[in-house]
Amino acid sequence: MKIISINAGSSSLKFSLFNMDDESVIASGLFERIGIEGSKYTIKYNGEKISQEIELPTHVDAVNILLDKLTDLNIIESLDEIHGVGHRIVQGKDIFKESVIVTDEVMEKLDTIKGFAPLHNPANMLGIEAFRKVLPNVPMVAVFDTAFHQTMDEVSYLYPVPYSWYKDFGVRKYGAHGTSHRYIANQVKKILGKDEYRLISCHIGNGGSITAIKDGKCVDTSMGFTPLAGIMMGTRSGDIDPSIIPYVMEQDGKNASEVIDDLNKRSGLLGMSEYSSDMRDVLEKCDEQNERAIVARDKYVRRVVDYIAQYYVLLGGADVIVFTAGVGENSVPVRRQICEELACLGVKIDIDANNKRGEFVKLSTDDSKIDVYVIPTDEELMIARDTMDLINR
Ligand code: ADP
Repeated sequence: MKIISINAGSSSLKFSLFNMDDESVIASGLFERIGIEGSKYTIKYNGEKISQEIELPTHVDAVNILLDKLTDLNIIESLDEIHGVGHRIVQGKDIFKESVIVTDEVMEKLDTIKGFAPLHNPANMLGIEAFRKVLPNVPMVAVFDTAFHQTMDEVSYLYPVPYSWYKDFGVRKYGAHGTSHRYIANQVKKILGKDEYRLISCHIGNGGSITAIKDGKCVDTSMGFTPLAGIMMGTRSGDIDPSIIPYVMEQDGKNASEVIDDLNKRSGLLGMSEYSSDMRDVLEKCDEQNERAIVARDKYVRRVVDYIAQYYVLLGGADVIVFTAGVGENSVPVRRQICEELACLGVKIDIDANNKRGEFVKLSTDDSKIDVYVIPTDEELMIARDTMDLINR
């Protein structure tokens, strides 16, 4: 059975085509600058990579070209081989607690909540609409970044603000990266061979979130009403005192959305280092003893450690800590520093094991009180799995 996983942005469309018999990726690629001059696509298959500049006025054009290419390049023999298409949706609010088959009713519900993720949900919906037009008889599934976090209880998801903000405006913690954290939880369950475990999943990439998971269910997560909350990220501040916002507005003559833009795009590693949002660049500067970079790195680590410590207490201890995403999978010094700061919890890692990058590895030593792993995340596969499961039901 072949399934396509789609991640549609406002001007882009990423895809992975899976053979679900062995969960292998047959082809993957990206359509960029849709609706903008200079649009192009890149498709990787069979160890080859092809790229072409081509006019892509709309997402429907991108989908048409994608499907043409899949057959022209003999990646599939006919479109009949595509049994389902899974779509990533950033925000499902408390309406979508799990993945669903896309129907007209689902599209209507999505329309009512798009204001909760104005930069992402409308773009994700464009992807679904394009595929529904081009492949009207193929089942589509919507997979939500927020769904995994719907098991949080009120104490976790409510903010200590007037309750009417929640009742009237839907102000609560929704979280993000849920598909990644769910994938990690599934992998940990396989590794341990049991359903009962306390896991702290650290998805630390350009965006980042940490999730406390008990027996496969999310108990709490660091992102909030939006992905601006929680740990420090590449360009996002994570948690700050909200009074800073009106103060900076007054000092800098900016309006609220401009300050929020600063917090989303010019804060985090970039803001603190005054150099780069990329951890590799920041670490290079640290090697040159650049003071701003060192403080930025140390603050980044501090925030991750703060959340791990908080969730350790919340879960009544931890059996497993997992690092995943760009920094978690690749950054040897950052992982090492985080684990060193967790020594008081009995975390001990093998320095040689920690030298590996981008692959599954157990970092902890046999006498560590908590098992620590690096597990490369695979959100696309999780979307394809959900799609197959729902179609087969
Ligand atoms: P996104 O949240 O956009 O999906 P990624 O998960 O791809 O981001 O993470 C990107 C980040 O991963 C980069 O900004 C960089 O900081 C970090 N990263 C990737 N490779 C390395 C590496 N070898 N060493 C340190 N950091 C790395």
